[in-house]
Amino acid sequence: MIDIFESTAQLRPEAVFFTAVDRRGNETAYTYRQTRLIASQLARRLRDKGVFPGDAVAVDLPNGPMYVFLALAAAYGGFALVALNHRLTDAEKLTRVLELERAGLRVAYTVDAAGEPKLFEAVCNSLLRNERAGRVDDSLGGSVEDAIHFAERAAHVFDSSHRALIMFTSGTTGKPKAAELTWGNLVEASKASNRVLSGRVRGRGLWQAVLPFFHVGGFQVLVRSVCSRWPLRIYERFDAAAVLRDAEVMHATHISVVDKMLQDMLNARPSALAQYECVLLGGGPLNAKTVARALEAGGRVYASYGMTETSSQVANTLITPQFTGGMRLLPGYSARIVEPDAAGFGRLALRGPGVFGGYANARAPFTVDGFFLTGDTAALHDGCLYVRERTGDMFISGGENVYPAEIVDALVRIPGVADAYVFGLPDARWGRRPAAVVELTPDAPMISTRALREALSQRLSKLYVPEQISIVDELPRSGIGKIDRAACEALFHENIDIRRVVL
Ligand code: ATP
Ligand code: MG
Repeated sequence: MIDIFESTAQLRPEAVFFTAVDRRGNETAYTYRQTRLIASQLARRLRDKGVFPGDAVAVDLPNGPMYVFLALAAAYGGFALVALNHRLTDAEKLTRVLELERAGLRVAYTVDAAGEPKLFEAVCNSLLRNERAGRVDDSLGGSVEDAIHFAERAAHVFDSSHRALIMFTSGTTGKPKAAELTWGNLVEASKASNRVLSGRVRGRGLWQAVLPFFHVGGFQVLVRSVCSRWPLRIYERFDAAAVLRDAEVMHATHISVVDKMLQDMLNARPSALAQYECVLLGGGPLNAKTVARALEAGGRVYASYGMTETSSQVANTLITPQFTGGMRLLPGYSARIVEPDAAGFGRLALRGPGVFGGYANARAPFTVDGFFLTGDTAALHDGCLYVRERTGDMFISGGENVYPAEIVDALVRIPGVADAYVFGLPDARWGRRPAAVVELTPDAPMISTRALREALSQRLSKLYVPEQISIVDELPRSGIGKIDRAACEALFHENIDIRRVVL
């Protein structure tokens, strides 16, 4: 990683590496030369403070210049980043760091009231001021040449097998797990996806980084930019209309989003979607309605599948009208289906360059020959992956298997339905019965739950049609836009109970 960054910085020092757009829309650009000086000196400064190779530094920041400097400083200094979800409470962040410490990691914790994040900020700002005035960091002494020498030496001894990033999973199925990723994982995964995604770009492309860096899908946009030597535009806040406008002016070619963001972009200005060479869609199951709208808008949307443990995507496919849900594995990856059923669906196991080595705070399920058991159910046909859902989502109702993903898919195909969450509600007679929480599109007329059930009966057998449906203004989502299942179920019970009281 830092070897690639260094070589670009030496080749094109005055080229802009990244531009940061803050929450007010103000932007600041940083050249490779500036970024290199700040990041490498930050690494030296942290080493002076006792952060050594193999240690970790917890980051608690929104997307901005500091995140980029720290990520590169980690590579220069040989320490790992612990990417904390910036939106958690301090107590939650502290719990996560303490858990890592219990697992034996030395973590420089920068979140507490002592104001350490501000220290980083102060350090970065003073480095930048000095750099602009042609000086180096006063506290380190030495000259610009010394700083450059440090950067060059760090790049020379850089070892990609070192732990680079400790990234927490989204916590959809339980307590978030701390996946440990090496630079090799991140860089090789990025190169594999660049090979597929940057094919049509003549000259230089431009990534817009709108997913948070504390999510693997966001962090990998940064690594992909370093690997492809493309510039990057990072956004502190996602404002669909502003991002689309900006893409037009700056000729952005690539953007990585989750479904909710793509919905927002389509609601803001569908025609603007066609300007991208690649809209990379990931983070969760595909929403048939969003896909259809994106196709209609002429967008080049790549469906992707991946997870924190695999350094983001391992398979993707450009969505065309012929799309059947299959996603091609990226070069270097192998998939295996464990205990497939008659239709070929079973537990998905993966091996490849981006697949992590293990969790810091949990045991990771690997086969003896090194395949990671993902926890998702999928089938594999002709090198294409068909992901159905998480293995534990299927439930049995009256002796029959029910797949909630199929019910969600039928729901979002009904005009006026934007998204849905379906789960198995305990039922004395059937064991479980499907129940749904439904979000309508902003322009939808009011639809009754009876009308929804009728529309569903046209497509699904009776067993699959939820008896109870709760219509909500908005499905609860995590900061990154993934559906928050526990909150959805709580909302369902709240709404159903309220209705009972009203009746
Ligand atoms: P946790 O592991 O803590 O329960 P999580 O699995 O949601 O949380 P992530 O690593 O952010 O954490 O998400 C990866 C998961 O998202 C995948 O394992 C899969 O279940 C789901 N996913 C991602 N892409 C797709 C897709 N294209 N289709 C279906 N599911 C997907
Ligand atoms: Mg997971």
